[in-house]
Amino acid sequence: MEIKDHKITGIPFETARWMGGTITPEIVVVHDTASRLTPGNAARYLQNNDRNVSVHFVIECDGSVVQQVPLNRKANHAGKSHYHGRDFCNGFSIGIEIVNPGKMQGHSGWGARAWFGEVFELEEHDIQEVTTKEHGHGFWMPYTEAQIDTVIDLLQVLFNGIETLKDIVPHWYVSPGRKTDTNPLFPLEQVKSIIFGREDPVVEEADEQASHITAGACLQIKVPNGSLNMRRWPSFNPNIIASIPNDTVVPEIKRGNFGGLDWSKVFFDGRDGWIVTAYTESVKTLTSRLVSPPMPLR
Ligand SMILES: [Zn+2]
Repeated sequence: MEIKDHKITGIPFETARWMGGTITPEIVVVHDTASRLTPGNAARYLQNNDRNVSVHFVIECDGSVVQQVPLNRKANHAGKSHYHGRDFCNGFSIGIEIVNPGKMQGHSGWGARAWFGEVFELEEHDIQEVTTKEHGHGFWMPYTEAQIDTVIDLLQVLFNGIETLKDIVPHWYVSPGRKTDTNPLFPLEQVKSIIFGREDPVVEEADEQASHITAGACLQIKVPNGSLNMRRWPSFNPNIIASIPNDTVVPEIKRGNFGGLDWSKVFFDGRDGWIVTAYTESVKTLTSRLVSPPMPLR
């Protein structure tokens, strides 16, 4: 992929009905569509609607992407917004919409209901109940790994090709209190660290913020008939490094609250990583029994 005539080669371009004048993009605003997951559903709406809404890119659940507005033209995606003292971000930003149902409410203990009435199964979609200062309380569906991969590919092309671009922000950052997209599961810091070439600051930051746990503390994984994902840093997708089977007891190294959830840093299968503390129980047991392998039978 490369930029040619303000379009990215190799992806479809379908002109949006609403398009403003020429802009010099300085930031990228990342959104989610708060819509049904059906392929093409959100993209068709954004391309052609009566509410003067439009965006530069739409990313489907399978990671495919369509461009609808040239990179040097204004799209109407951010609405009332401000960035570091400047108003109306549409005039200096590129918008990316990721297909996702948006904020949902709990439904009968097994599901989450989107604003358009569809109920998604918690387990099937790995939906998380999370509260943050910026998003409030809600049930949220993680973006797919394919979506995050496409976001990263797209941003790499944009930041390589457009010298004036200097920041990546979620919609909630420029429209605080009015918007909650992207959701709390969007790995913003990880994406930024990849695009700006930093060395995983998040892993270090998490280590610093987490409180220390007394030596010998252990957690037992409690995911009946399943397993728990161990992650490289305390957030969702795409950073799974191991899967810990139910009932496994692991030493807890650290614990901290990140993105509204308690996370524990544990040791498993020769490496350390982060798990959601809520899916565990504390156990009092001898560390030595766990860390050293059982005596081999002769
Ligand atoms: Zn938005």
